[in-house]
Amino acid sequence: MPAVHTCFKLLCILLFSLLPLNTYALQDGIKTEIKCVVIDAGHGGHDPGTISPDGRIREKNIALAVALKFGRALKKRYPSIKVIYTRSNDHFVKLYERSDIANRNKADLFISLHVNSSRSASARGTETWVMGPNKNERNFELCKTENSVITMENDYKAKYEGFDPDSPESYIIFSLLQNTHLKNSLDFAERVQRKFSTGPITVNRGVKQGGLIVLWRSTMPAVLVELGFLSNYRDRKILTSTKGQNEIAAKLLAAFSEYKGSYEKEYDDSTGGMQKVRPAKNTSEKKQYYSIQVFAASKKVKPSNYGLNENDTEIFMSGPYYKYVTGKYDTPQEANRALKKIRIKFKDAFIVKIYGNPLTLHPYKKQ
Ligand SMILES: [Zn+2]
Repeated sequence: MPAVHTCFKLLCILLFSLLPLNTYALQDGIKTEIKCVVIDAGHGGHDPGTISPDGRIREKNIALAVALKFGRALKKRYPSIKVIYTRSNDHFVKLYERSDIANRNKADLFISLHVNSSRSASARGTETWVMGPNKNERNFELCKTENSVITMENDYKAKYEGFDPDSPESYIIFSLLQNTHLKNSLDFAERVQRKFSTGPITVNRGVKQGGLIVLWRSTMPAVLVELGFLSNYRDRKILTSTKGQNEIAAKLLAAFSEYKGSYEKEYDDSTGGMQKVRPAKNTSEKKQYYSIQVFAASKKVKPSNYGLNENDTEIFMSGPYYKYVTGKYDTPQEANRALKKIRIKFKDAFIVKIYGNPLTLHPYKKQ
């Protein structure tokens, strides 16, 4: 019914405004180096995931085997990176605990590993998912399947704010979320798919977006990888062989190495000790004004990657930090009105006063 639909949308918007958005990484200063990776083997324990047509092979076992092989290879190549598994043996881990583990450890990347299945035995190939709205029925089906795990948790209604994996309306909330880390998640996902397409499973089904609970709560770039189809004979042969699993793990590592290189290069663009690094483009120069500090980072980042308008954002160097401020206001009252809007997305944003020659950023107390 349309009326119910509208009410639901309003409820979602309300919920959305109350939800803590993924800004902790920003408040801590954006990290410029990859130091910790969480590898999440899907399912486990009494949740087998998808099962092969003959009933003998379970998704949970393949996910775990590849997770451990990938983790070991990662550790060997990058001994200083902390590798954390959400499970390293066959036990059940709730979906929210998986992302909690990553959040608690302030991980820089979350990789969830799964195996696909289809009613059609000919469906095969790999796909990598990032958080986003379900664009079509097929996307909805996969998200429903992967999310349905929560119904195995006794407390899921309270833990997931009434989320019902079977109800398309429940997914509206995801389309409203602007994931701070979407760009990096997409970048890593693209690299995974490109590496995968060189084998052992060469069919590349692409990067997809959907409302996946396990990614929803992660406060870092996060992907869910479907390593192949258990329902397909050729994929299954590769997925269950030690050689196939090693090759898949090696491709994940290759994608990670590329991503790490590009991520750390982007953030290694230091401009030295300038007081004011980059002026806003579209405003006239003022001698004194109020602005809103949105976050600070230890190296220079692209404001648009974090949902800020490039034209309205200025960056000030202060001690070891680049401070990102947005807007120019003549009075604290004007700044305060803008602050209220900005705090919907960046809850720790605050007003600063900018003056001096050269223009310097100062704290502003009354707020
Ligand atoms: Zn799964």
